[in-house]
Amino acid sequence: MHEELKRIDKEIYEILRKEENRKEDTLEMIPSENHTSLAVLEALSSVFNDKYAEGYPGKRYYGGNEYIDDVEILCQERARKVFGVPFCNVQGYSGSPANMAVYFATLKPGEKVLGMHLSAGGHLTHGWKVNFSGKYYESSFYGVDKETSLIDYDEVREIAKKEKPKLIFVGTTSYPRTLDFKKFREIADSVGAYLCADISHISGLIVSGSHPSPVDHAHVITTTTHKTLRGPRGALIMVTESGIKKDADLPEKINKAVFPGLQGGPHVHQIAAIAVCLKEAMDDSFKEYGKLVVRNARVLAEELVKKGFNLVSGGTDNHLILLNLENKGISGKDAQNLLEKAGIVVNKNAVPFDPRPPADPSGIRLGTPAITTRKMGEEEMKKIAEFISEVVEKRNPEKVREKVKKLCINFKIPK
Ligand SMILES: *Cc1c(COP(=O)(O)O)cnc(C)c1O
Repeated sequence: MHEELKRIDKEIYEILRKEENRKEDTLEMIPSENHTSLAVLEALSSVFNDKYAEGYPGKRYYGGNEYIDDVEILCQERARKVFGVPFCNVQGYSGSPANMAVYFATLKPGEKVLGMHLSAGGHLTHGWKVNFSGKYYESSFYGVDKETSLIDYDEVREIAKKEKPKLIFVGTTSYPRTLDFKKFREIADSVGAYLCADISHISGLIVSGSHPSPVDHAHVITTTTHKTLRGPRGALIMVTESGIKKDADLPEKINKAVFPGLQGGPHVHQIAAIAVCLKEAMDDSFKEYGKLVVRNARVLAEELVKKGFNLVSGGTDNHLILLNLENKGISGKDAQNLLEKAGIVVNKNAVPFDPRPPADPSGIRLGTPAITTRKMGEEEMKKIAEFISEVVEKRNPEKVREKVKKLCINFKIPK
């Protein structure tokens, strides 16, 4: 692989080799990351990269788009089939611009959005003040219950009643529990708001039946394609039956928001690669994968509890675990750095009601999507819990580093 790159640009080639080696002999446990298949990577590095295709299939602003139309139509068809929705836009460059398109399609600047607070596990694009969504729209937030760390649906209902948002987001980046989309829809209906389910983290779990689907409840669904769905960086924006019922023009408004509202030419190589990952997601093996991701997370959670770790909400229903390290006398940042030295890659993360600053919070977030792609199972989860405990308790990453390397050798990243 990469022979021509090696010939033309040795510097980039060598950095790439180092990155490949780093991935191969470390445990990737950032819950928003994964290892993509060679087929996805091949579609990404194809001549589809070269084409300008502003517009949509059959209505392009450039010539020569016969086959580009085929790619985009196939990708849309697969997305509709995989998620069971009547409409899907596949041109969003990534999750954040996809969410921006939802604002463009449903709100005017200055109108109101309700999202989950960043510190409770929401995303920047759900109304946070430094983001476009908090600057150009009036945002309010719900959080989690102080005792249980679970979403308090009564609180969400009360805030919605008081604020009367026109758009409500349900979707999280560090919430380890199942989301009740039905309750969110009831709340949205009670104030006449659009409900957008941002399933970026869990779309792969939803496809594989390991998390309930929002299809019968949300009006709009957005997702990144590079997290549990295991595709290229990119995004899908879907409108459901009830979204069309609420506003028959919503699909058209979404399309117009993406192009010409926010973007120029779509990344056709990216769309081709999304089509490939959706095909992979239709296979029975992907259903099995999603189930294993959740089972692995649960086993890892149970083992960490046994070792005296404090898990936010006490455990997990999905692919991720949020550890509150206050009782271990180490900050999230220091834990992340120590674990990285041991070859376990995680990210520091705020915990609900975190007394520490966001740059050095009390927690770390870990997930099983990538290590499950390497076909690790229960036995390995037990080992990894040992490793994490040893690093955090004894602060001896070098010793654990050797054990991590050994484990990685037996679980090569599938090509
Ligand atoms: C990852 C994520 C996004 C943003 O995706 P980017 O591709 O990083 O822009 C949006 N919402 C949620 C819930 C996410 O987890």
